[in-house]
Amino acid sequence: MKKIAVITSGGDAPGMNAAVRAVVRSALHEGMEVFGSVRGYNGLIHDELIPMSIRSVTDTIHRGGTSLFTARSPEFRTEEGMQKAIDTCKRHGIEGVVVIGGDGSFRGARDLTARGVPCIGVPATIDNDISCTEVTIGYDTATNTVVDMADKLRDTSQSHDRCSVIEVMGRHAGWLTLNAGLAAGATSILVPEVPFDFEKDIVQRMKETAAAGKHHFIIMVAEGIGHVNELAEKIEDATGVETRATVLGHVQRGGNPSARDRVLAARLGHYAVQLLKEGKSNRVVAVKNEQLVDYDITEALDMQKPFDMDMYRMANEISG
Ligand code: ADP
Repeated sequence: MKKIAVITSGGDAPGMNAAVRAVVRSALHEGMEVFGSVRGYNGLIHDELIPMSIRSVTDTIHRGGTSLFTARSPEFRTEEGMQKAIDTCKRHGIEGVVVIGGDGSFRGARDLTARGVPCIGVPATIDNDISCTEVTIGYDTATNTVVDMADKLRDTSQSHDRCSVIEVMGRHAGWLTLNAGLAAGATSILVPEVPFDFEKDIVQRMKETAAAGKHHFIIMVAEGIGHVNELAEKIEDATGVETRATVLGHVQRGGNPSARDRVLAARLGHYAVQLLKEGKSNRVVAVKNEQLVDYDITEALDMQKPFDMDMYRMANEISG
């Protein structure tokens, strides 16, 4: 393999730059040429490719977002768009593509591989909702961001004996909410994976906590539950505790990647290049028992990652 491309695709996540850097430097180390595709699959479609040198990725390891930009590319899902992407790869002699993104991006990578351009997927998303891997690039940083915000909200809630309802990103996945909720000492954690009972899981819990002498509360709520302002009103009505809702929003996507995410991105990016070097394709790199592994993309997309109910129960048990 002599020439490869690297793309960041779908939702951005802190650590994507560190992954690109690892791919570029590992490939150069193997004597390959590397192109960066601008704005995900769009760069392949519209022939926006940047030749990457060892210096192209200088001063990027600590930056959030992605210097290659990212995009959702509806055009890539059309026959015409896909063909343009393939033509660009052929024209430049690109023999392999490392796709850094989520499940949607991996579906695109699978299609591209099936059409003769070998791809390897690298999991990156703040939601940690990629089934084949224990952790994704960006998850640790986003958790730290949410915890940092929750700590700040705790200070003001504590001073005023208030309840703080915090909405965390995750429409379908509660990993970030659970992880951050546990780390922030939330009184209640509400996630899409586990049905909740307003009286038992919020009101009663707050009353018990108050009876034991604590009068400020954090209720960590995944975006998928929705309606946090209404929830805050309902809590205030039911408990008499002044309650405010805070939607953290896109701040959770940004910021310098944590050391853990940088290391993970370096390991996964390097591993992806090793697979291409060995002539492998249609694989996703992943973490299992803290070791690097790889799976066929279709197999990876079909996997299920059961929600960590033990951790959920434990978080509830030690809250209060
Ligand atoms: P993520 O990779 O974060 O899950 P998306 O779901 O937006 O983000 O996917 C990123 C891009 O991957 C899409 O814009 C599209 O070009 C491509 N893609 C998504 N789903 C598919 C699919 N089912 N088949 C082919 N390509 C897809």
